Amino acid sequence: MRRVVCPGSFDPVTNGHLDIIGRAALLYDEVIVVVGANQAKLGLFTVDERVAMLREAAGGIANVRVGTFRGLLVDYCREQGVSAIVKGLRAVSDFEYEMEMAQMNYRLAGLETLFMTANPQYSFLRASRVKEIATYGGDVSSLVPESVLGRLQDRLASP
Ligand code: ADP
Repeated sequence: MRRVVCPGSFDPVTNGHLDIIGRAALLYDEVIVVVGANQAKLGLFTVDERVAMLREAAGGIANVRVGTFRGLLVDYCREQGVSAIVKGLRAVSDFEYEMEMAQMNYRLAGLETLFMTANPQYSFLRASRVKEIATYGGDVSSLVPESVLGRLQDRLASP
């Protein structure tokens, strides 16, 4: 079985993430979307909330499941029988960091990283910017799934 992971903080999941997840699901037998829990306290949403939003948004795709990992991603991948990571690349600015991580994961465990170019519709989109815009009352309804919109408004109204 060709099983890959899409890792991230997903705080919260955006339409850019969903685009990559959906495209990866067309190429591989199973996609595990994993929320990294190492630095969870720094987020707007708890890890459980992020997982719930991902499940609501991507749960309709039969070969996608959502999980969490703590510690090293290479260890999680070994445990789950995953041989590759799929990441989206928005722009050259993503590339340097992602290439370093990819090479480190390969050095640590022979874990491959496959890059997908961002859909141009979403190449400007990152979760931190969505939160910033929503904080100041901007309309983010075309940038995040329904499952996120309500929770975002609630959380920002009473953090
Ligand atoms: P961010 O906080 O930057 O939105 P995350 O760390 O949650 O991102 O994202 C996990 C991964 O999802 C990123 O490493 C990147 O590969 C991918 N990603 C994030 N936003 C987009 C986007 N708009 N288009 C394509 N891929 C994206």
